[in-house]
Amino acid sequence: MAATLEKVKCACSTCECMVSPDKAIEKDGKYYCGEACANGHADGSHGCGHPGCTCGG
Ligand SMILES: [Zn+2]
Ligand SMILES: [Zn+2]
Ligand SMILES: [Zn+2]
Repeated sequence: MAATLEKVKCACSTCECMVSPDKAIEKDGKYYCGEACANGHADGSHGCGHPGCTCGG
């Protein structure tokens, strides 16, 4: 078994998603699961495109 791909929780405070750093959107040294989270849901969007996730509300 080679190295395990380490996942980190999306830096969006209310987001529960786990993201791989190599696939995540990095902003200010933090990892986000998507654009909506990365920009702090500035557009008022809820959720991040993942089923069941209602972060940003
Ligand atoms: Zn999420
Ligand atoms: Zn997120
Ligand atoms: Zn979010």
